Amino acid sequence: MTGVTVRVPAKLNLQLAVGPPRADGYHDLVTVFHAVSLFDEITAEPARRDGVSVSGEGADRVPADGDNLALRAVAALRAEVPSAPGVHITIAKRIPVAAGLAGGSGDAAAALVACNELWAGGFGPPQLAEIAARVGSDVAFSLLGGTAVGRGRGEQLTPALAPATQYHWVLAFADGHLSTPEVYAALDRQRARAGEQVPAGPELDPALMSALRSGDARLVGRALSNDLQPAALSLFPALRKTLAAGLELGALGALVSGSGPTCVFLAASADRALDLAASLSGAGVCRSVARASGPAPGAAIVSGAR
Ligand code: ATP
Repeated sequence: MTGVTVRVPAKLNLQLAVGPPRADGYHDLVTVFHAVSLFDEITAEPARRDGVSVSGEGADRVPADGDNLALRAVAALRAEVPSAPGVHITIAKRIPVAAGLAGGSGDAAAALVACNELWAGGFGPPQLAEIAARVGSDVAFSLLGGTAVGRGRGEQLTPALAPATQYHWVLAFADGHLSTPEVYAALDRQRARAGEQVPAGPELDPALMSALRSGDARLVGRALSNDLQPAALSLFPALRKTLAAGLELGALGALVSGSGPTCVFLAASADRALDLAASLSGAGVCRSVARASGPAPGAAIVSGAR
């Protein structure tokens, strides 16, 4: 076998509700993940030693050694397949790095799918999801795709019941990055300063779930929410302008994606998304824009066979 190529989507959080910090430093979450059609592609090929090379969007900010999340996923899978030979992973990035779109987790999920195929590991989705959860909080969702509720650190997943609606998104990429742990730390500080009593178990928003069941983009747009947004805005104030511009230009809803700094806008149709993307791009409130639709499928084999 020469190699296996897998495509993996970026994720948005349509809701991100964050509980207080736990003893282990993580926060309990309730989130509604939504995969969109902005894809990284990874190829796994037999090699003497494990290695990784990265090209494309933000490649210079991605570690090319064992810290790469794709190689961590390879190591986690190899622990289950001790006889597995070496593998070289080539990552073609389109998902910006440290942008709140789970690009690294996506590459890890893609590496699991590719190596499971390359090594004839024979693991099914539940076993891969278990290994994924050991690698990182968002990796299991990147395997699953679609729209799903995540609990715990985000790794306990339940697919969301929704009609076959496709939503049209505009993604505004920022000129800068945010570190996920720093955004969580800023949220904790903001809450402590405000003397906020944060309930231990964050709750799923019934308005968002009913909007998703209706398939009505207007309702979904109104119900988008992200507890991390105020913290992301405090660290990256220019995002306020980006969000305001998108809403003024007619987006049905706007929010910072995950820990940011990508801002995402829901449009009423593919044509509206095209107009919005062009206007946002002209408004000079972000580095660049992209359009994507969701829900998109999770990590999937594009080519390669045994
Ligand atoms: P999340 O939304 O899951 O919190 P993110 O989208 O904000 O994550 P990533 O693009 O996953 O951020 O990158 C987070 C960090 O992980 C970066 O600082 C990067 O150096 C590191 N990293 C390790 N492996 C990868 C990879 N394959 N692709 C991107 N980043 C990686």
